Amino acid sequence: MCSVVGSFVRILILFAIGVVLLIVSIALNAATLSTINKRFDEIKNANGQTTVSIGSTTRTTTQPPSSSGNLTDSIRIADLMYHLNELQRIANDASNTRAIGTRGFSETVNYIYNYLAVNAPNLNVVRQPFLVKNFTVKGNPILILSSGGSNRTFTYSTNLARSDFTYANYSAPIALTEFNLTVVPNYGCDPADWQNVAGQAALVVLGGICTFAEKGELANKYNASALLYYNHGLTTASLAPVIARLRQVNTLPAVCLSYAAGQELVRAANMTSASIWLQIEIENYPPFMIENVCANTKEGNINETIVIGGHSDSVPAGPGINDNGSGAMAILVLATNLARLYQSGNYIKYKYRVRFCWWAAEEIGLVGAIYHAQQAQNSSAIIGNRLQDYLINLNYDMLGSPNYMLGVYNGSSAKPGTPPSARNGSIRISETFSSWFDRNNLPWDYTDFSGRSDYGPFLAAGIVAGGLFSGADETKTPEQRARYEEKLGLGQGGLAGAILDPCYHKACDTTDNINQLGYEKMVQAAAYMLEYLGRLDDLPTWLYPNGRQTTELPENYFPNSDYFRDVDS
Ligand SMILES: [Zn+2]
Repeated sequence: MCSVVGSFVRILILFAIGVVLLIVSIALNAATLSTINKRFDEIKNANGQTTVSIGSTTRTTTQPPSSSGNLTDSIRIADLMYHLNELQRIANDASNTRAIGTRGFSETVNYIYNYLAVNAPNLNVVRQPFLVKNFTVKGNPILILSSGGSNRTFTYSTNLARSDFTYANYSAPIALTEFNLTVVPNYGCDPADWQNVAGQAALVVLGGICTFAEKGELANKYNASALLYYNHGLTTASLAPVIARLRQVNTLPAVCLSYAAGQELVRAANMTSASIWLQIEIENYPPFMIENVCANTKEGNINETIVIGGHSDSVPAGPGINDNGSGAMAILVLATNLARLYQSGNYIKYKYRVRFCWWAAEEIGLVGAIYHAQQAQNSSAIIGNRLQDYLINLNYDMLGSPNYMLGVYNGSSAKPGTPPSARNGSIRISETFSSWFDRNNLPWDYTDFSGRSDYGPFLAAGIVAGGLFSGADETKTPEQRARYEEKLGLGQGGLAGAILDPCYHKACDTTDNINQLGYEKMVQAAAYMLEYLGRLDDLPTWLYPNGRQTTELPENYFPNSDYFRDVDS
């Protein structure tokens, strides 16, 4: 009995010790977290850029937002960085990339899917698989200029800075063949430019108001036999050859030359009759399957869906933490936090369904988003999945650039041909973003809205679009720096004359490439936008006050692919 009492007392004591230890450990964890947050604030205040890494011991999942809170207040940089560290780990285990066709990409998709399954069980998560054409170039392509009785062999290297030329993506193969060379006048954006190319190798400069792919379509249409692009040399960044991307249905052998090599060909073609020899060996593999992922709220009108999207893939050259880990993980946090607010019981749910999407294969030309939009306009699309069920597409692609701007897509700069009702609603979205930045005494800039990210196909189909962008290879101006410095405080204005993301599409696009101050503000703005739209009484009328013009997304819709440069791949 005594011993029983004794062991009972011992158990009690052990239990008490356990409880004390538990309390101490919780207190320590809280203290550690608050110290980290405090240090984080100090460091952030000191230089605007922090190097604090949030380890899995202090934070394994996002913190539930307070039940009375709103979505904007639920956004915390620590949650965002936690996810970016996970993407960095995935890339580290996969040769420093998360590009489609690699383990880094499939692990990224699994990470999003699995995280939602555990942390947002009240969302309906759907994978949308589709096939992508797959090939490799065998050996080194050959390009020889033959003029005035002499031959000149151009250098091929996978290092574009040292290469005279490179092959275009989705080039057709060609055994060593001689072609007469002809120069396409102007930028080759007008069909009239292509009248003399039949049976010839057509040489065309990059730039103008049309895309690689549009030039490729004209070359095919006017029966060119081969297609040679060359860089325009207008800036120091446009001297090397670039990876031109054609449509997957292209049938021409195609390469892209450096500015200097292009000039050499132009001179030769103008002086005498010049010809080129071209060889590109291509091995086609079976197409491979990749997936978009979308997570839907179960509440809200499925005929009035708010779509929030960003791309999940990186370029082959790097881990893509800013482009576009930053946007993809912003959407993951938005989805999780909204799901938790919905579960809390104290949050008024939106009248509209929200669909969060992670698009695959943006980096090879918005392939996942285009696939999704095309499926949504098929007559077989079910109610809730049709384009007409989508009210708006908000896009988040690059939110954490190190020398950032707080960039708002400028609705009024939508491409000519954009349905006016979609353009007008997009202007409203731009204004709503910019006035949020103004109210929070933050600087902001309007940025390009010509369809060069995943919102492109939605906008082209007549759906209002908008979004944020912290900058890629644009340069920060002195005026911009002064404005940011004034609003954000001394030392926060960034570097004038430097590009906004020096690691854009490069191996150094790691977690160190994120400006956490700017990133957090951008995601808060994104959260505000969702909540603002979700709370509107009549979102359809707010977006489309004069009714909605429905437009068929063209079968051959293709984005402005001049944007998609893997400068370092
Ligand atoms: Zn991107």
